[in-house]
Amino acid sequence: MTAMLDHTVPRRTFLKLAGLGAAGAALNQTMPALNGRKALDLPDYAPVPKSALGPPLNAQGYYVGRVEKNLYWVTDATYQCAFLTTKDGVVLLDAPPTIGNNIQRAIDEVAGVDGVSNKVKYLIYSHHHADHGGASSLFGKNVVRIGHEETRRLLIRDNDPARPAPEEIFQDRRTLNIDGNRIELEWQGSNHSPDNIYIHLPDHDTLMLIDIVNAGWAPVYICNLTEDVQGYMGAPAKALAYPWKHFIGGHLGRLGTRDDVTLHQRYMADIDASVRKTLPTMDPTPYFQKYGENAWAAVKGYLDACSDAAAAPVIEKYTGVLAAADVFTASTTFWVMESLRLDLGLGSWVHP
Ligand SMILES: [Zn+2]
Repeated sequence: MTAMLDHTVPRRTFLKLAGLGAAGAALNQTMPALNGRKALDLPDYAPVPKSALGPPLNAQGYYVGRVEKNLYWVTDATYQCAFLTTKDGVVLLDAPPTIGNNIQRAIDEVAGVDGVSNKVKYLIYSHHHADHGGASSLFGKNVVRIGHEETRRLLIRDNDPARPAPEEIFQDRRTLNIDGNRIELEWQGSNHSPDNIYIHLPDHDTLMLIDIVNAGWAPVYICNLTEDVQGYMGAPAKALAYPWKHFIGGHLGRLGTRDDVTLHQRYMADIDASVRKTLPTMDPTPYFQKYGENAWAAVKGYLDACSDAAAAPVIEKYTGVLAAADVFTASTTFWVMESLRLDLGLGSWVHP
């Protein structure tokens, strides 16, 4: 906790989160502290439950730990990736830019102790997003990059030199066997993104599924910035259908368990149920009366009121259970409500 009292730590984390990694580091050195200036009037939130937090980071700002056998995970308390050490070299699972060069430091640390190669030979992309793959180019041109065919298509389209497209691709499933380590890659339809895959390591009792469940925490904005809410809501059941004990969700500071996944399922189901119950009780009339020809102002007032009303009982139920339930539940509820309206046709009205 002492680190959190040092205001430079959260600021650097925020700048990294905001995609301002290098600029953030520079700003961090040049920006004066808030000394003498009026502090912003920022809201207070419920304390983070201790159970949501992971192990402390080292001086370089990362933690590396063994998941099982030769499978390790790395976190900077906000992002996570993982790697396998093998006789054929290291297999890296995602390369978040916030962890960046600490990925190789973590590998060096483990390889030094275990007496194995520290050379990354394979890099598996969970999905195409820059916040989980933006350190890919650090590992050079000769790494074998593996990913879903849609990940390749999107990375070629978006043309970010930090994320070279995978050359080794698959459609529905592919099993890799690298020095006797089985890695089962499976695509089961869109969820958080159109290309997000299930990475199952049966010999290590582990499932890696990124940006669906944040162990111990509520999802960030709009269901973890999800493109397909119905796919997102269905993903935890698909995850639980695999046999595993350890869950790598890609975010925050600790690994997950099966209980974390079922708790997340209950949270999302409660949001869904609350929207279905609340929506029919809400009357849009006052918003249209108030805003007249400004249709968008009326729509915003009405839909914000609906999502706030539907979120309220869920926030109350999960505060102290899931960290930041009071921070992001309203946003996620709005997104679930829109999916119920637009994907499932809830409350759809046909002009007579
Ligand atoms: Zn993502």
